[in-house]
Amino acid sequence: MIELQNVKKSFGDTLAVSDLSLMIGEGQVVGFLGPNGAGKSTTMRMITGFLAPDAGQILVNGESVLENPRATKSLIGYLPENNPLYEEMLVRDYLRFTEQLRPGAGTGAIERAVAQTGIETVYYRPISELSKGFRQRVGLAQAILHQPDILILDEPTEGLDPNQRVEIRSLIKEIGRKRTVVLSTHVLQEVRSTCDRVIIIDKGRLVADADIETLMSQAQGAKHVVVEVQGSKPDRAIQGLPGVLSVESHSGAARGRHRLTVTAEGDAELRPLLFELAKEHDWTIWELFQEEVSLEDVFRHLTVGTERDTEVTGGADD
Ligand code: ADP
Repeated sequence: MIELQNVKKSFGDTLAVSDLSLMIGEGQVVGFLGPNGAGKSTTMRMITGFLAPDAGQILVNGESVLENPRATKSLIGYLPENNPLYEEMLVRDYLRFTEQLRPGAGTGAIERAVAQTGIETVYYRPISELSKGFRQRVGLAQAILHQPDILILDEPTEGLDPNQRVEIRSLIKEIGRKRTVVLSTHVLQEVRSTCDRVIIIDKGRLVADADIETLMSQAQGAKHVVVEVQGSKPDRAIQGLPGVLSVESHSGAARGRHRLTVTAEGDAELRPLLFELAKEHDWTIWELFQEEVSLEDVFRHLTVGTERDTEVTGGADD
């Protein structure tokens, strides 16, 4: 379990994390989202004990990270941003070196981590020769070497090609099966496919904390149904349906048809009513669908106006 209590961290005049409180239960896989500069890496560094908070406290399995750094570090496996590795080392030597830094790793730790991350074929290769996908695997192998209960992964799929991304994601799922995982990412698809819970921070503050479905249904204040219909003045009749807030007409529909976006209250179920109406007026429906609120919409809604260069990808690679 990870607990942050009113944690603050500044760098000079830059407030990186501002009064952040969180609780992450055992076995949860949490997606940590936010625009660039939101404070994700700083938070992860504080959880892992690499940085000390200016105020507040962080507990890992009930132990204070500041007061018992050895005990808490032994519970955590950490893959830092950009996965710093010693390029000139062989994978074997790097893992042996890491093992020496991790006294609790026990016998057979390297063999186990190598097998779990699928790096047998590159074990005797220099790290500088590895593809980005294999580098990430080596980074994950060092993170799980001492069999920690908790994994903190800072943008583990950044810079990977779509195939590598899918592979690393499924590896994370596999090694995260019985662990608590906190994973930061820009790829929202990753959160959808990997995480039970989403925490979004912006400017060092918590702006959302929920499972994905709850988050999306909270954001779904109104429903949008798009309908393309052939008939006389359908917008007027549709406007009279219960729950309808507005009907907007679009250009570009084929001759004789009307393309409309109908906005209704969040709990109104419009589609059956539109079918009934079409039957009653003898209209032809060419198209009818409800626009879904996406995680991208939710993210943008919660973090608008923050860093312009923030790149959020929906993960078209899957
Ligand atoms: P994120 O991981 O969400 O992109 P960071 O935690 O890296 O955000 O950064 C949060 C803020 O703190 C940013 O404004 C960043 O420039 C600043 N920051 C982070 N680390 C340092 C540091 N070591 N020195 C100075 N400023 C830093």
